[in-house]
Amino acid sequence: MQVMDKIHVGGTWQRPHGSETTYLVDPFTEEAYATVAMGDEADIDAAVQAAGEALRGPWGETTPRERADILARIAEGLADRAMEIASVITRENGTPLAGGRQGLVAVGPFEYYADYGRTHAFEELRESDLGRLVVRREPVGVVGAILPWNVPLGLTAMKLAPALLAGCTFVLKPSPETPLDAFILAEVLGDAGVPDGVFSVIPGGARVGEHLVRHPGVDKIAFTGSTEVGRRIASICGEQVKRVTLELGGKSAAIVLDDADLEKTVAALVPHGSMMYNGQACILQSRILVSRTRHDEVVEALADAVGSLRVGDPYDESTQVGPLVSARQRDRVQGYIDTGRAEGARPVVGGGRSRHQKGWFVEPTVFADVENSMTVAREEIFGPVLSVIRYRDEKEAVDIANDTVYGLSGTVFTEDIDRGVAVAGKVRTGMIGVNAMPAGVGLPFGGMKASGIGREGGPEGLAAYTEYQALGVPVGYDYVLD
Ligand code: NAD
Repeated sequence: MQVMDKIHVGGTWQRPHGSETTYLVDPFTEEAYATVAMGDEADIDAAVQAAGEALRGPWGETTPRERADILARIAEGLADRAMEIASVITRENGTPLAGGRQGLVAVGPFEYYADYGRTHAFEELRESDLGRLVVRREPVGVVGAILPWNVPLGLTAMKLAPALLAGCTFVLKPSPETPLDAFILAEVLGDAGVPDGVFSVIPGGARVGEHLVRHPGVDKIAFTGSTEVGRRIASICGEQVKRVTLELGGKSAAIVLDDADLEKTVAALVPHGSMMYNGQACILQSRILVSRTRHDEVVEALADAVGSLRVGDPYDESTQVGPLVSARQRDRVQGYIDTGRAEGARPVVGGGRSRHQKGWFVEPTVFADVENSMTVAREEIFGPVLSVIRYRDEKEAVDIANDTVYGLSGTVFTEDIDRGVAVAGKVRTGMIGVNAMPAGVGLPFGGMKASGIGREGGPEGLAAYTEYQALGVPVGYDYVLD
Protein backbone atom coordinates (compact mmCIF):
# COMPACT_ATOMS: atom_id res chain seq x y z
CA MET A 1 0.00 0.00 0.00
CA GLN A 2 1.35 3.39 -1.03
CA VAL A 3 1.42 5.89 1.84
CA MET A 4 1.37 9.61 1.10
CA ASP A 5 1.54 11.39 4.43
CA LYS A 6 2.65 14.81 3.22
CA ILE A 7 1.01 17.59 1.29
CA HIS A 8 2.60 20.43 -0.65
CA VAL A 9 2.26 23.76 1.16
CA GLY A 10 3.95 26.82 -0.28
CA GLY A 11 6.78 24.85 -1.84
CA THR A 12 7.55 22.47 1.02
CA TRP A 13 6.37 18.93 1.58
CA GLN A 14 4.95 18.70 5.07
CA ARG A 15 2.54 16.73 7.19
CA PRO A 16 -0.89 18.32 7.15
CA HIS A 17 -2.23 20.11 10.19
CA GLY A 18 -5.04 17.61 10.84
CA SER A 19 -5.17 13.81 10.91
CA GLU A 20 -7.72 13.06 8.17
CA THR A 21 -6.66 10.50 5.58
CA THR A 22 -8.43 8.91 2.65
CA TYR A 23 -8.05 5.55 0.95
CA LEU A 24 -7.71 5.49 -2.80
CA VAL A 25 -9.45 2.48 -4.30
CA ASP A 26 -8.64 1.11 -7.77
CA PRO A 27 -11.88 1.25 -9.84
CA PHE A 28 -10.89 -1.93 -11.75
CA THR A 29 -9.81 -4.20 -8.89
CA GLU A 30 -11.89 -2.48 -6.15
CA GLU A 31 -8.83 -2.78 -3.90
CA ALA A 32 -7.41 0.05 -1.81
CA TYR A 33 -3.90 0.86 -3.05
CA ALA A 34 -2.96 4.11 -1.26
CA THR A 35 -3.66 6.12 1.81
CA VAL A 36 -3.34 9.86 1.40
CA ALA A 37 -3.27 12.56 4.08
CA MET A 38 -5.88 15.26 3.47
CA GLY A 39 -5.45 18.95 4.20
CA ASP A 40 -7.75 21.02 6.37
CA GLU A 41 -8.64 24.69 6.87
CA ALA A 42 -5.33 25.48 8.62
CA ASP A 43 -3.40 24.09 5.66
CA ILE A 44 -5.43 26.25 3.28
CA ASP A 45 -4.64 29.27 5.48
CA ALA A 46 -0.91 28.48 5.35
CA ALA A 47 -0.96 27.96 1.58
CA VAL A 48 -2.87 31.20 0.97
CA GLN A 49 -0.48 33.11 3.20
CA ALA A 50 2.53 31.70 1.32
CA ALA A 51 0.85 32.54 -1.99
CA GLY A 52 0.25 36.13 -0.88
CA GLU A 53 3.84 36.53 0.27
CA ALA A 54 5.20 35.12 -3.00
CA LEU A 55 3.00 37.53 -4.94
CA ARG A 56 4.38 40.49 -3.03
CA GLY A 57 7.90 39.01 -3.16
CA PRO A 58 10.26 38.10 -6.02
CA TRP A 59 7.56 36.35 -8.09
CA GLY A 60 5.78 39.69 -8.35
CA GLU A 61 8.95 41.16 -9.88
CA THR A 62 9.30 38.58 -12.68
CA THR A 63 8.54 39.60 -16.25
CA PRO A 64 6.12 37.78 -18.56
CA ARG A 65 9.13 36.59 -20.61
CA GLU A 66 10.77 35.04 -17.55
CA ARG A 67 7.53 33.35 -16.59
CA ALA A 68 7.10 32.10 -20.18
CA ASP A 69 10.51 30.40 -19.89
CA ILE A 70 9.37 28.68 -16.70
CA LEU A 71 6.18 27.50 -18.45
CA ALA A 72 8.26 26.01 -21.25
CA ARG A 73 10.30 24.06 -18.68
CA ILE A 74 7.09 22.84 -17.00
CA ALA A 75 5.82 21.65 -20.40
CA GLU A 76 9.05 19.69 -20.90
CA GLY A 77 8.86 18.20 -17.42
CA LEU A 78 5.26 17.10 -17.92
CA ALA A 79 6.00 15.66 -21.37
CA ASP A 80 8.88 13.62 -19.89
CA ARG A 81 6.56 12.19 -17.23
CA ALA A 82 3.35 11.97 -19.31
CA MET A 83 3.14 8.17 -19.31
CA GLU A 84 3.78 7.98 -15.56
CA ILE A 85 1.11 10.64 -14.93
CA ALA A 86 -1.40 8.88 -17.17
CA SER A 87 -0.76 5.62 -15.39
CA VAL A 88 -1.40 7.25 -11.99
CA ILE A 89 -4.65 8.79 -13.26
CA THR A 90 -5.83 5.49 -14.73
CA ARG A 91 -5.55 3.97 -11.28
CA GLU A 92 -7.21 6.99 -9.68
CA ASN A 93 -10.25 7.24 -11.96
CA GLY A 94 -10.38 4.21 -14.30
CA THR A 95 -10.04 6.06 -17.61
CA PRO A 96 -8.22 3.99 -20.25
CA LEU A 97 -4.47 4.52 -20.48
CA ALA A 98 -4.90 5.06 -24.25
CA GLY A 99 -1.32 6.03 -25.07
CA GLY A 100 -1.02 8.27 -22.02
CA ARG A 101 -3.67 10.78 -23.07
CA GLN A 102 -4.43 11.92 -19.50
CA GLY A 103 -0.76 12.92 -19.12
CA LEU A 104 -0.32 14.46 -22.57
CA VAL A 105 -3.36 16.74 -22.29
CA ALA A 106 -1.61 18.61 -19.49
CA VAL A 107 1.35 19.59 -21.69
CA GLY A 108 -0.46 21.66 -24.35
CA PRO A 109 -1.61 24.60 -22.18
CA PHE A 110 1.95 25.14 -20.85
CA GLU A 111 3.38 25.10 -24.39
CA TYR A 112 0.68 27.43 -25.65
CA TYR A 113 1.05 30.05 -22.91
CA ALA A 114 4.88 29.84 -23.00
CA ASP A 115 4.67 30.77 -26.65
CA TYR A 116 2.03 33.42 -26.02
CA GLY A 117 4.13 35.04 -23.29
CA ARG A 118 7.15 35.26 -25.56
CA THR A 119 5.28 36.80 -28.46
CA HIS A 120 2.63 39.07 -26.94
CA ALA A 121 2.89 42.39 -25.15
CA PHE A 122 1.32 42.76 -21.70
CA GLU A 123 0.99 46.51 -22.01
CA GLU A 124 -0.44 48.72 -24.72
CA LEU A 125 -0.30 52.45 -25.43
CA ARG A 126 -3.48 54.24 -26.42
CA GLU A 127 -3.49 57.84 -27.53
CA SER A 128 -6.48 60.12 -27.45
CA ASP A 129 -7.23 63.84 -27.56
CA LEU A 130 -7.46 63.73 -23.77
CA GLY A 131 -4.04 62.26 -23.16
CA ARG A 132 -1.90 59.18 -23.34
CA LEU A 133 -2.97 55.91 -21.73
CA VAL A 134 -0.99 52.82 -20.81
CA VAL A 135 -3.29 49.79 -20.55
CA ARG A 136 -1.58 47.35 -18.24
CA ARG A 137 -2.44 43.75 -17.45
CA GLU A 138 -1.80 42.99 -13.82
CA PRO A 139 -2.09 39.53 -12.23
CA VAL A 140 -5.47 39.01 -10.59
CA GLY A 141 -3.59 37.81 -7.47
CA VAL A 142 -3.90 34.62 -5.43
CA VAL A 143 -5.93 31.99 -7.29
CA GLY A 144 -7.84 29.21 -5.55
CA ALA A 145 -8.45 26.33 -7.98
CA ILE A 146 -10.96 23.55 -7.32
CA LEU A 147 -10.88 20.57 -9.65
CA PRO A 148 -12.93 17.45 -10.43
CA TRP A 149 -11.59 13.91 -10.82
CA ASN A 150 -12.36 13.17 -14.46
CA VAL A 151 -9.48 14.91 -16.29
CA PRO A 152 -7.64 16.15 -13.24
CA LEU A 153 -4.31 17.31 -14.62
CA GLY A 154 -5.48 18.48 -18.05
CA LEU A 155 -8.10 20.73 -16.45
CA THR A 156 -5.59 21.98 -13.86
CA ALA A 157 -3.16 22.89 -16.65
CA MET A 158 -5.80 25.00 -18.39
CA LYS A 159 -5.96 27.13 -15.23
CA LEU A 160 -2.41 27.01 -13.94
CA ALA A 161 -0.57 27.84 -17.18
CA PRO A 162 -2.35 31.17 -17.86
CA ALA A 163 -2.37 32.01 -14.15
CA LEU A 164 1.42 31.63 -13.89
CA LEU A 165 2.00 33.55 -17.11
CA ALA A 166 -0.14 36.38 -15.75
CA GLY A 167 2.00 36.42 -12.58
CA CYS A 168 -0.58 34.92 -10.21
CA THR A 169 0.09 32.45 -7.42
CA PHE A 170 -1.99 29.33 -7.07
CA VAL A 171 -3.53 27.11 -4.38
CA LEU A 172 -4.84 23.88 -5.88
CA LYS A 173 -7.48 21.76 -4.18
CA PRO A 174 -7.73 18.58 -6.21
CA SER A 175 -10.64 16.20 -5.86
CA PRO A 176 -10.13 13.70 -3.01
CA GLU A 177 -10.25 10.89 -5.61
CA THR A 178 -7.28 12.27 -7.58
CA PRO A 179 -4.59 13.84 -5.38
CA LEU A 180 -1.58 11.84 -6.60
CA ASP A 181 -1.28 13.36 -10.07
CA ALA A 182 -1.41 16.83 -8.50
CA PHE A 183 1.58 15.90 -6.32
CA ILE A 184 3.53 14.93 -9.45
CA LEU A 185 2.66 18.34 -10.89
CA ALA A 186 4.12 19.96 -7.75
CA GLU A 187 7.38 18.05 -8.34
CA VAL A 188 7.51 19.15 -11.97
CA LEU A 189 6.96 22.80 -10.98
CA GLY A 190 9.74 22.58 -8.40
CA ASP A 191 12.12 21.10 -11.00
CA ALA A 192 11.17 23.89 -13.44
CA GLY A 193 12.25 26.56 -10.97
CA VAL A 194 8.88 27.82 -9.72
CA PRO A 195 9.76 29.65 -6.47
CA ASP A 196 8.44 28.60 -3.08
CA GLY A 197 4.99 29.89 -2.19
CA VAL A 198 3.78 30.20 -5.78
CA PHE A 199 2.07 26.79 -5.86
CA SER A 200 0.44 24.57 -3.23
CA VAL A 201 -1.55 21.34 -3.37
CA ILE A 202 -4.07 20.85 -0.55
CA PRO A 203 -6.21 17.75 -1.14
CA GLY A 204 -9.57 17.69 0.56
CA GLY A 205 -13.31 17.58 0.12
CA ALA A 206 -16.16 20.09 0.03
CA ARG A 207 -15.44 21.65 3.43
CA VAL A 208 -11.83 22.42 2.59
CA GLY A 209 -12.87 23.66 -0.85
CA GLU A 210 -15.42 26.02 0.60
CA HIS A 211 -12.85 27.40 3.04
CA LEU A 212 -10.63 28.22 0.06
CA VAL A 213 -13.55 29.93 -1.70
CA ARG A 214 -14.38 32.07 1.34
CA HIS A 215 -10.77 32.92 2.19
CA PRO A 216 -10.27 36.70 2.14
CA GLY A 217 -6.68 36.23 0.91
CA VAL A 218 -7.89 34.57 -2.30
CA ASP A 219 -8.59 36.97 -5.17
CA LYS A 220 -10.05 34.57 -7.69
CA ILE A 221 -11.65 31.13 -7.77
CA ALA A 222 -11.24 28.89 -10.80
CA PHE A 223 -13.71 26.03 -10.51
CA THR A 224 -14.44 23.01 -12.66
CA GLY A 225 -17.14 20.65 -11.49
CA SER A 226 -20.87 20.18 -11.26
CA THR A 227 -23.38 22.95 -11.90
CA GLU A 228 -24.83 22.42 -8.42
CA VAL A 229 -21.53 23.11 -6.64
CA GLY A 230 -20.72 25.87 -9.15
CA ARG A 231 -23.90 27.72 -8.18
CA ARG A 232 -22.92 27.63 -4.53
CA ILE A 233 -19.37 28.80 -5.21
CA ALA A 234 -20.62 31.61 -7.46
CA SER A 235 -22.99 32.84 -4.76
CA ILE A 236 -20.16 33.05 -2.20
CA CYS A 237 -17.92 34.82 -4.72
CA GLY A 238 -20.81 37.15 -5.55
CA GLU A 239 -21.14 38.23 -1.91
CA GLN A 240 -17.41 38.95 -1.78
CA VAL A 241 -17.17 40.41 -5.32
CA LYS A 242 -14.47 37.83 -5.89
CA ARG A 243 -13.48 36.96 -9.46
CA VAL A 244 -14.68 33.51 -10.50
CA THR A 245 -14.50 31.25 -13.54
CA LEU A 246 -16.92 28.31 -13.68
CA GLU A 247 -16.59 25.30 -15.98
CA LEU A 248 -19.67 23.23 -15.24
CA GLY A 249 -21.85 20.45 -16.63
CA GLY A 250 -23.16 19.77 -20.10
CA LYS A 251 -25.81 17.88 -22.07
CA SER A 252 -24.59 18.59 -25.56
CA ALA A 253 -26.28 17.64 -28.79
CA ALA A 254 -24.90 16.07 -31.95
CA ILE A 255 -27.24 17.16 -34.74
CA VAL A 256 -27.06 14.54 -37.49
CA LEU A 257 -28.45 16.26 -40.60
CA ASP A 258 -30.21 14.14 -43.20
CA ASP A 259 -27.23 14.24 -45.61
CA ALA A 260 -24.63 13.18 -43.02
CA ASP A 261 -22.12 10.45 -43.88
CA LEU A 262 -23.17 7.71 -41.49
CA GLU A 263 -19.79 6.01 -41.22
CA LYS A 264 -17.89 9.23 -40.49
CA THR A 265 -20.56 10.39 -38.04
CA VAL A 266 -20.49 7.23 -35.98
CA ALA A 267 -16.68 7.10 -36.07
CA ALA A 268 -16.54 10.65 -34.65
CA LEU A 269 -19.07 9.90 -31.93
CA VAL A 270 -18.01 6.46 -30.74
CA PRO A 271 -16.09 6.44 -28.56
CA HIS A 272 -14.41 9.87 -28.82
CA GLY A 273 -17.25 12.36 -29.16
CA SER A 274 -19.72 10.73 -26.85
CA MET A 275 -17.95 8.18 -24.65
CA MET A 276 -14.41 9.48 -24.15
CA TYR A 277 -13.12 8.96 -20.57
CA ASN A 278 -15.84 6.32 -20.02
CA GLY A 279 -18.50 8.93 -20.70
CA GLN A 280 -17.19 11.02 -17.82
CA ALA A 281 -16.45 14.25 -19.66
CA CYS A 282 -18.46 17.45 -19.63
CA ILE A 283 -18.11 18.15 -23.38
CA LEU A 284 -19.52 14.86 -24.68
CA GLN A 285 -22.44 14.67 -27.09
CA SER A 286 -24.89 12.63 -25.04
CA ARG A 287 -27.98 13.61 -27.07
CA ILE A 288 -27.90 12.42 -30.68
CA LEU A 289 -30.53 14.25 -32.73
CA VAL A 290 -31.52 12.38 -35.87
CA SER A 291 -34.01 13.17 -38.66
CA ARG A 292 -37.02 10.86 -38.88
CA THR A 293 -35.94 9.80 -42.40
CA ARG A 294 -32.60 8.40 -41.21
CA HIS A 295 -33.51 7.42 -37.67
CA ASP A 296 -33.45 3.64 -37.93
CA GLU A 297 -30.15 3.36 -39.83
CA VAL A 298 -28.41 5.79 -37.41
CA VAL A 299 -29.70 3.89 -34.36
CA GLU A 300 -28.53 0.61 -35.87
CA ALA A 301 -25.06 1.96 -36.67
CA LEU A 302 -24.68 3.51 -33.21
CA ALA A 303 -25.81 0.27 -31.57
CA ASP A 304 -23.26 -1.70 -33.60
CA ALA A 305 -20.43 0.69 -32.71
CA VAL A 306 -21.27 0.98 -29.02
CA GLY A 307 -21.94 -2.77 -28.77
CA SER A 308 -18.46 -3.48 -30.18
CA LEU A 309 -16.57 -1.21 -27.76
CA ARG A 310 -13.85 -3.03 -25.88
CA VAL A 311 -14.78 -2.69 -22.20
CA GLY A 312 -12.34 -3.88 -19.56
CA ASP A 313 -8.96 -3.38 -17.90
CA PRO A 314 -8.09 0.31 -18.34
CA TYR A 315 -4.37 -0.53 -18.39
CA ASP A 316 -4.86 -2.70 -21.49
CA GLU A 317 -3.98 -0.41 -24.41
CA SER A 318 -6.79 -1.90 -26.50
CA THR A 319 -9.47 -0.99 -23.92
CA GLN A 320 -11.85 1.77 -25.01
CA VAL A 321 -14.13 1.92 -21.95
CA GLY A 322 -12.97 1.25 -18.40
CA PRO A 323 -14.76 1.23 -15.05
CA LEU A 324 -16.33 4.39 -13.63
CA VAL A 325 -14.50 6.33 -10.94
CA SER A 326 -16.38 5.03 -7.90
CA ALA A 327 -19.14 2.70 -6.75
CA ARG A 328 -21.22 5.82 -6.10
CA GLN A 329 -20.81 7.03 -9.68
CA ARG A 330 -21.58 3.53 -11.02
CA ASP A 331 -24.81 3.43 -8.97
CA ARG A 332 -25.76 6.91 -10.10
CA VAL A 333 -25.32 6.06 -13.80
CA GLN A 334 -27.09 2.72 -13.34
CA GLY A 335 -29.94 4.66 -11.70
CA TYR A 336 -30.26 6.85 -14.80
CA ILE A 337 -30.38 3.75 -17.01
CA ASP A 338 -33.22 2.34 -14.86
CA THR A 339 -35.05 5.68 -15.01
CA GLY A 340 -34.63 5.77 -18.79
CA ARG A 341 -36.33 2.38 -19.14
CA ALA A 342 -39.06 3.32 -16.68
CA GLU A 343 -39.84 6.51 -18.64
CA GLY A 344 -40.16 4.58 -21.92
CA ALA A 345 -36.74 4.94 -23.55
CA ARG A 346 -35.75 1.77 -25.44
CA PRO A 347 -32.23 0.40 -24.89
CA VAL A 348 -30.95 -0.89 -28.25
CA VAL A 349 -27.64 -1.91 -26.75
CA GLY A 350 -26.60 -2.17 -23.09
CA GLY A 351 -29.16 -1.09 -20.55
CA GLY A 352 -28.55 -3.99 -18.17
CA ARG A 353 -26.11 -4.73 -15.38
CA SER A 354 -22.45 -5.11 -16.23
CA ARG A 355 -21.21 -8.70 -16.62
CA HIS A 356 -17.89 -7.87 -14.99
CA GLN A 357 -17.48 -9.62 -11.64
CA LYS A 358 -15.23 -6.85 -10.34
CA GLY A 359 -14.77 -3.20 -11.13
CA TRP A 360 -17.29 -0.38 -11.26
CA PHE A 361 -18.44 -1.03 -14.81
CA VAL A 362 -21.59 0.11 -16.52
CA GLU A 363 -22.66 -1.38 -19.84
CA PRO A 364 -22.26 1.23 -22.60
CA THR A 365 -25.86 2.00 -23.50
CA VAL A 366 -27.77 3.55 -26.40
CA PHE A 367 -31.36 4.55 -25.79
CA ALA A 368 -33.70 5.06 -28.75
CA ASP A 369 -37.24 6.51 -28.65
CA VAL A 370 -36.07 9.22 -26.27
CA GLU A 371 -38.17 12.37 -25.88
CA ASN A 372 -36.23 15.47 -24.94
CA SER A 373 -38.45 15.82 -21.87
CA MET A 374 -37.21 12.52 -20.38
CA THR A 375 -34.76 12.53 -17.47
CA VAL A 376 -32.02 10.84 -19.54
CA ALA A 377 -32.22 13.70 -22.05
CA ARG A 378 -32.32 16.49 -19.49
CA GLU A 379 -29.81 15.57 -16.82
CA GLU A 380 -26.07 15.10 -17.13
CA ILE A 381 -25.49 11.36 -16.63
CA PHE A 382 -21.66 11.40 -16.72
CA GLY A 383 -21.35 7.82 -17.92
CA PRO A 384 -21.40 5.86 -21.20
CA VAL A 385 -25.09 6.41 -21.99
CA LEU A 386 -26.45 7.97 -25.22
CA SER A 387 -29.95 9.15 -26.02
CA VAL A 388 -31.17 9.22 -29.62
CA ILE A 389 -33.93 11.78 -30.22
CA ARG A 390 -35.93 12.15 -33.47
CA TYR A 391 -36.54 15.50 -35.13
CA ARG A 392 -38.89 16.49 -38.02
CA ASP A 393 -36.89 19.25 -39.67
CA GLU A 394 -33.79 21.38 -39.20
CA LYS A 395 -35.64 23.99 -37.15
CA GLU A 396 -36.89 21.38 -34.72
CA ALA A 397 -33.37 19.93 -34.45
CA VAL A 398 -32.04 23.34 -33.39
CA ASP A 399 -34.95 23.83 -30.97
CA ILE A 400 -34.25 20.47 -29.31
CA ALA A 401 -30.50 21.18 -29.14
CA ASN A 402 -31.31 24.46 -27.37
CA ASP A 403 -33.98 22.99 -25.11
CA THR A 404 -31.60 22.38 -22.18
CA VAL A 405 -30.30 24.40 -19.28
CA TYR A 406 -26.77 23.65 -20.50
CA GLY A 407 -24.75 25.07 -23.40
CA LEU A 408 -21.25 23.63 -23.42
CA SER A 409 -20.43 21.83 -26.64
CA GLY A 410 -22.01 20.37 -29.78
CA THR A 411 -21.52 19.02 -33.28
CA VAL A 412 -23.38 19.22 -36.57
CA PHE A 413 -22.85 16.30 -38.94
CA THR A 414 -23.40 16.99 -42.64
CA GLU A 415 -21.71 16.74 -46.03
CA ASP A 416 -22.78 20.34 -46.78
CA ILE A 417 -20.35 22.40 -44.70
CA ASP A 418 -22.13 25.72 -45.45
CA ARG A 419 -25.33 24.24 -44.06
CA GLY A 420 -23.47 22.83 -41.06
CA VAL A 421 -21.92 26.22 -40.26
CA ALA A 422 -25.32 27.91 -40.51
CA VAL A 423 -26.99 25.37 -38.20
CA ALA A 424 -24.09 25.51 -35.72
CA GLY A 425 -24.53 29.28 -35.47
CA LYS A 426 -28.09 28.79 -34.19
CA VAL A 427 -27.13 26.60 -31.23
CA ARG A 428 -26.62 28.45 -27.94
CA THR A 429 -23.44 26.73 -26.88
CA GLY A 430 -19.86 27.67 -26.06
CA MET A 431 -18.13 25.29 -28.46
CA ILE A 432 -19.51 23.60 -31.56
CA GLY A 433 -17.97 22.01 -34.63
CA VAL A 434 -18.98 20.68 -38.01
CA ASN A 435 -18.30 16.92 -38.22
CA ALA A 436 -16.00 17.04 -35.14
CA MET A 437 -15.84 18.83 -31.82
CA PRO A 438 -13.61 21.89 -31.93
CA ALA A 439 -10.26 21.24 -30.28
CA GLY A 440 -6.90 22.83 -29.54
CA VAL A 441 -5.39 24.92 -26.77
CA GLY A 442 -6.12 28.20 -28.59
CA LEU A 443 -9.82 27.41 -28.19
CA PRO A 444 -11.74 29.53 -25.68
CA PHE A 445 -13.05 26.54 -23.73
CA GLY A 446 -16.24 27.06 -21.75
CA GLY A 447 -19.96 27.18 -21.73
CA MET A 448 -23.07 29.32 -22.01
CA LYS A 449 -26.11 29.16 -19.70
CA ALA A 450 -25.74 26.73 -16.77
CA SER A 451 -22.53 25.31 -18.27
CA GLY A 452 -20.51 28.08 -16.73
CA ILE A 453 -19.11 31.58 -16.76
CA GLY A 454 -15.88 32.57 -18.48
CA ARG A 455 -13.45 30.79 -20.79
CA GLU A 456 -10.21 28.85 -20.39
CA GLY A 457 -7.62 28.58 -23.16
CA GLY A 458 -6.54 31.06 -25.80
CA PRO A 459 -6.11 34.79 -25.10
CA GLU A 460 -9.50 34.71 -23.35
CA GLY A 461 -8.13 32.21 -20.85
CA LEU A 462 -5.26 34.55 -20.00
CA ALA A 463 -7.63 37.51 -19.58
CA ALA A 464 -9.38 35.54 -16.82
CA TYR A 465 -6.20 35.80 -14.68
CA THR A 466 -5.48 39.46 -15.29
CA GLU A 467 -6.90 42.75 -14.09
CA TYR A 468 -6.69 45.73 -16.42
CA GLN A 469 -5.16 48.91 -15.06
CA ALA A 470 -5.46 52.10 -17.07
CA LEU A 471 -2.51 54.38 -16.33
CA GLY A 472 -2.74 57.93 -17.57
CA VAL A 473 0.60 59.64 -18.29
CA PRO A 474 1.21 63.20 -19.51
CA VAL A 475 1.19 63.71 -23.28
CA GLY A 476 4.71 63.33 -24.60
CA TYR A 477 5.93 61.19 -21.68
CA ASP A 478 8.05 58.38 -23.10
CA TYR A 479 6.69 55.27 -21.36
CA VAL A 480 8.68 52.06 -22.01
CA LEU A 481 6.24 49.18 -22.55
CA ASP A 482 6.74 45.89 -20.67
P1 NAD B 1 -18.24 18.18 -7.99
O1 NAD B 1 -18.89 19.47 -8.31
O2 NAD B 1 -18.93 17.25 -7.09
O3 NAD B 1 -16.79 18.44 -7.34
C1 NAD B 1 -15.84 19.23 -7.99
C2 NAD B 1 -14.84 19.74 -6.97
O4 NAD B 1 -15.49 20.63 -6.07
C3 NAD B 1 -14.21 18.66 -6.09
O5 NAD B 1 -12.85 19.00 -5.88
C4 NAD B 1 -14.99 18.78 -4.79
O6 NAD B 1 -14.25 18.33 -3.68
C5 NAD B 1 -15.24 20.27 -4.72
N1 NAD B 1 -16.40 20.70 -3.94
C6 NAD B 1 -17.56 20.04 -3.71
N2 NAD B 1 -18.39 20.81 -2.99
C7 NAD B 1 -17.76 21.99 -2.75
C8 NAD B 1 -18.11 23.19 -2.06
N3 NAD B 1 -19.28 23.34 -1.47
N4 NAD B 1 -17.21 24.20 -2.03
C9 NAD B 1 -16.02 24.08 -2.64
N5 NAD B 1 -15.62 22.96 -3.30
C10 NAD B 1 -16.49 21.92 -3.36
O7 NAD B 1 -17.92 17.51 -9.41
P2 NAD B 1 -17.22 16.10 -9.72
O8 NAD B 1 -18.20 15.02 -9.42
O9 NAD B 1 -15.86 16.04 -9.11
O10 NAD B 1 -17.02 16.22 -11.31
C11 NAD B 1 -18.03 15.99 -12.22
C12 NAD B 1 -18.67 17.28 -12.69
O11 NAD B 1 -17.68 18.16 -13.22
C13 NAD B 1 -19.65 17.07 -13.81
O12 NAD B 1 -20.83 17.80 -13.59
C14 NAD B 1 -18.93 17.61 -15.04
O13 NAD B 1 -19.75 18.06 -16.07
C15 NAD B 1 -18.13 18.70 -14.45
N6 NAD B 1 -17.00 19.01 -15.35
C16 NAD B 1 -17.02 20.17 -16.08
C17 NAD B 1 -15.98 20.46 -16.95
C18 NAD B 1 -15.96 21.74 -17.79
O14 NAD B 1 -14.88 22.13 -18.20
N7 NAD B 1 -17.07 22.40 -18.02
C19 NAD B 1 -14.92 19.57 -17.08
C20 NAD B 1 -14.95 18.41 -16.32
C21 NAD B 1 -15.98 18.13 -15.45
